[in-house]
Amino acid sequence: MEEIRKYPFIRHKGIVRQSAEGLTLDPYNHDHNWEGYQFFREAFDKILLERAIAYGAEFQSGVVLKSIEFDRNSIASLSTNLGSFKADFFVDATGRSASLAKKLGIGYLVKSKPLFVHYGYVQTGGSDLFDSPQMIWDEAGWTWISQITENLISWNRLSPCNPKISKGWLPAQIANLNSAGPPKAADVTWRIANKISAENYFLLGDAAFVLDPVSSKGVLKAIMSGMMCGHLLAQLNPRTSNIDDIHRYYNNWVNEWFLRDLQVLRSVYDGRGVGI
Ligand SMILES: Cc1cc2nc3c(=O)[nH]c(=O)nc-3n(C[C@H](O)[C@H](O)[C@H](O)COP(=O)(O)OP(=O)(O)OC[C@H]3O[C@@H](n4cnc5c(N)ncnc54)[C@H](O)[C@@H]3O)c2cc1C
Repeated sequence: MEEIRKYPFIRHKGIVRQSAEGLTLDPYNHDHNWEGYQFFREAFDKILLERAIAYGAEFQSGVVLKSIEFDRNSIASLSTNLGSFKADFFVDATGRSASLAKKLGIGYLVKSKPLFVHYGYVQTGGSDLFDSPQMIWDEAGWTWISQITENLISWNRLSPCNPKISKGWLPAQIANLNSAGPPKAADVTWRIANKISAENYFLLGDAAFVLDPVSSKGVLKAIMSGMMCGHLLAQLNPRTSNIDDIHRYYNNWVNEWFLRDLQVLRSVYDGRGVGI
């Protein structure tokens, strides 16, 4: 946490929303001075990676998973472009690409219509117009705009009824600014893996389940599922504990989280009259 506090991530006290009075700040906490973090991915990833290495993790970049070798039903090793990797347990933390899950043929239960969030960045001349992120709903979906560094504003647009956006589209609030690179789109269809863990594999973060950014807990889920997986495996003792109990616990824990957030998301979209 110290490294995160030291890094000059932009902090914000809440989210700016549209209300009858116009745009108003909805603070994270009315009584205490809570502040959110606006993580810039490269910086945040680097902090986490350095921490993992400091704790003894070995990091290999540019690894491409080719195939899986099995020992009965368990994974014996992963064959990659950089050689073969053996382990007692295999963890898929590859996000929405869910590389290991796909190679294992694990299916996903889909709980929404196909949802694509479009996102991109614009350059700012050092303005702090969006240092508190804006979340604006309209009849077709929502737009999120936030300052992620001194010179960059990030925008996200999700419109379930109208999944495409026109070339060069920018939210009206920042349409006068220059784009920093082409926009991208991500498949954030609500979905959860049929088997979150079994035998000697565990799915973490977005590889386990995906909800769209309105859930606002994707990063928290990625970190907490990693913590939970590590915590459970650290307790594994052949004499006193059973891997099946660990899988049962982990599958329930992840499924309950998904169902809770699913209900919240459904009521948010229903409340806005946006069909999902
Ligand atoms: C536009 C958008 C906006 C979002 N905004 C927010 C937000 O404001 N707050 C929030 O909490 N969440 C947000 N989310 C969700 C959040 O980004 C994800 O839930 C979170 O990043 C999931 O973390 P993860 O570690 O599971 O996956 P990722 O963050 O996607 O990390 C996966 C990593 O695995 C690597 N990888 C992929 N495939 C392979 C492979 N085959 N081999 C090796 N490495 C591989 C990738 O390069 C990446 O480094 C947003 C998502 C999108 C698309």
